[in-house]
Amino acid sequence: MKAWRFYDFGDMRLDNVPAPACRPGHVIVEPRCVQPSVTEAQLALGIRTLAYERIKRRLETEAPVQLFGHEFCARVVEVGAGVTRVRPGDRVAARAKLPCGTCALCLGGRDHLCRKGPIIGFQLPGCFAERALLPEIALVRVDDRISDSEAACLQSLSDSVAAVETAGIGIGDSVAIYGQGSMGLECLQIARNSGAGLIVAVDVREEACRVSRELGADVALNARSEDPVAAIREFTGGNGADVVFDCAGGSPAQGLAGTRSLLQAIDSVRSGGKLVGVSWFGSPMELDVDLLRERSLRFLFPDISTLAHLEHTVRLAASGRVRLSPTITHVLHGLEAVPQAFEITANKGKHQAINPAQVIP
Ligand SMILES: [Zn+2]
Repeated sequence: MKAWRFYDFGDMRLDNVPAPACRPGHVIVEPRCVQPSVTEAQLALGIRTLAYERIKRRLETEAPVQLFGHEFCARVVEVGAGVTRVRPGDRVAARAKLPCGTCALCLGGRDHLCRKGPIIGFQLPGCFAERALLPEIALVRVDDRISDSEAACLQSLSDSVAAVETAGIGIGDSVAIYGQGSMGLECLQIARNSGAGLIVAVDVREEACRVSRELGADVALNARSEDPVAAIREFTGGNGADVVFDCAGGSPAQGLAGTRSLLQAIDSVRSGGKLVGVSWFGSPMELDVDLLRERSLRFLFPDISTLAHLEHTVRLAASGRVRLSPTITHVLHGLEAVPQAFEITANKGKHQAINPAQVIP
């Protein structure tokens, strides 16, 4: 079969490789739509972010190696012994980070905290290939009302569900969201479904502000033309929002906001309020912790998404409570288009992309 393999950072080639054989507890799938995550797109080019050292080591010791491809919709073609939740013909999506199933946390019923299990596309080959072997515990069946394109977004949506759950939004809480890329727009819609009151979205792209208004933001502020901190304080009686998400931070070289949006997010939370850090920064940064301490802020980080979160995404997308299609801006055709999808996704600002670029193989 054909599969994309990495020989080095920035060097991916479409090779002929042996097709995977099915195993107990696993299924063989044929991808129908696949997209690089922003993290994968950055790693492919050798940009420092989450898991950079791990991927560098694999390239140094194992290249050529099949990497990435955990955001997908695929059809099951074969199931291994013991598989009960999916059948051949089912369309499936996956969560990326899997529990190991054997450590004390997993055995103690806290497998969402396990960091020893594999990540699809990082330790296990993903879906930038004609076929993939995947563990059943990663998968969810996709409802007929969800398109292949939308289903490829469910992995990211499950991380957003976990992020909003971590925020513990109360009924009527005011919420501000910095960054209206795919995760920002997902957090916006899930927060709205989870009882949020006033929702203020912030971005620097007029197009993203338009989409966030369409998807339910009460106010969408363009931080290029107005001061979001002052505006959020004004909308909340001078106090700041109860809950603030930072979905904008990251390397300015890729069109992300650096640490500026995180500092603005801190200034936008009311005293005793919650700040949820969704962004990855890729390197250490300086932060004046006294800013948080002085106002008793809670700086939280999202839990890893579980199978229950992934199943909830199917409910949200199938019922239309969360709309994914307005965020899908680039769809390419043919497995050969994968490098182009990586390039667009690594430089979403330049290409005016919201969701990562998708490939229909
Ligand atoms: Zn474990």
